[in-house]
Amino acid sequence: MVRFKAWVIEKGEAGQTLSFTDFDAADLMDGDVTVRVTHSGLNYKDGLAMTGRSPVVRRFPMIPGIDFSGVVETSDHPDYTPGDAVVLTGWGVGETHLGAYAERARVNGDWLVPLPNGLSPAQAMAVGTAGYTAMLCLMAIEAHGLTPADGPALVTGASGGVGSVAVALLARAGWHVIASTGRMEEADYLRGLGASEIIDREDLAKPGKPLGKERWAAAIDAVGSTTLANVLAQTKSDGAVAACGLAQGMDLPTSVAPFILRGVSLLGINSVTTPRPKRRAAWARLAKELDLAALAAMTNRVGLAEVGRLGEDILSGKVRGRTVVEIG
Ligand code: NDP
Repeated sequence: MVRFKAWVIEKGEAGQTLSFTDFDAADLMDGDVTVRVTHSGLNYKDGLAMTGRSPVVRRFPMIPGIDFSGVVETSDHPDYTPGDAVVLTGWGVGETHLGAYAERARVNGDWLVPLPNGLSPAQAMAVGTAGYTAMLCLMAIEAHGLTPADGPALVTGASGGVGSVAVALLARAGWHVIASTGRMEEADYLRGLGASEIIDREDLAKPGKPLGKERWAAAIDAVGSTTLANVLAQTKSDGAVAACGLAQGMDLPTSVAPFILRGVSLLGINSVTTPRPKRRAAWARLAKELDLAALAAMTNRVGLAEVGRLGEDILSGKVRGRTVVEIG
């Protein structure tokens, strides 16, 4: 009987518990590829899962962890053979399917992508779901036809995971980046990633007018709620906002004014079930375009045994940039 280390969420009458324990390989869920997990990441959704703050976990027991990189151990999938280096984000891993905070994972091979050329397994998880989502946001803004010549690009939640990678990617692509943060003490960090201007997130946090001064042509919003409403109200005519997050809240108290009077577009981003060709294209671009020095500057590392106590920290906005979980 093979056992391995894993974080496990259980639900009992007293509520949810999280423990670091030995897990029996026989209890892994169905899948055609078994991976020796070497790295994972800490994402906002992992915080929700580990603390039980939101009902993102739909099956118990659950191993949390929504993304991993690792090496294929066994495979019945035509695309993968033992020894292949792979990456996974999304598909309900860590929510409905046993996840990444473990030394082994068994998954559907269709969910995997080969480790992109140019990134190590640790770098791939420094990018992780958050960075991959930032790239999907940039791709959506570009597909809308916007370029740096149209005006500045705003990033909200800029010191967080999605935000930090978004700042670096936009700056690298030539945008004048305005970073909105609640941590003004991180201004130098954000300038180091490529931000040209830093604004206090309080500017955008409170209810505002249906339309305001036109300040940016594009935005990547990880925050939602009143912030997103204000971001839309201050987007230039024919601009676009890629919305991927809800760090302030799930609501969106906006009006139709930005859409019908300025032709602003709201672009929804869902990284979980992105079809394979787009997923591979996003990873290939990340490997080519993300400045690896910027990636290193935004990355912290923790061991598997430590990640279980970081759930509250990420939900309360205390985690800067990305956190790689070292496993194998
Ligand atoms: P992080 O916690 O790393 O980043 C979120 C950032 O938002 C914080 O660092 C903070 O930045 C800011 N923030 C936190 N609380 C508030 C608040 N109350 N009001 C305004 N700003 C706040 O999380 P991630 O980067 O991992 O994820 C960001 C969001 O994107 C989450 O909501 C997550 O669920 C979502 N997401 C969605 C995906 C999708 O597929 N759509 C995929 C990945 C993430 P600062 O201190 O700089 O203000």
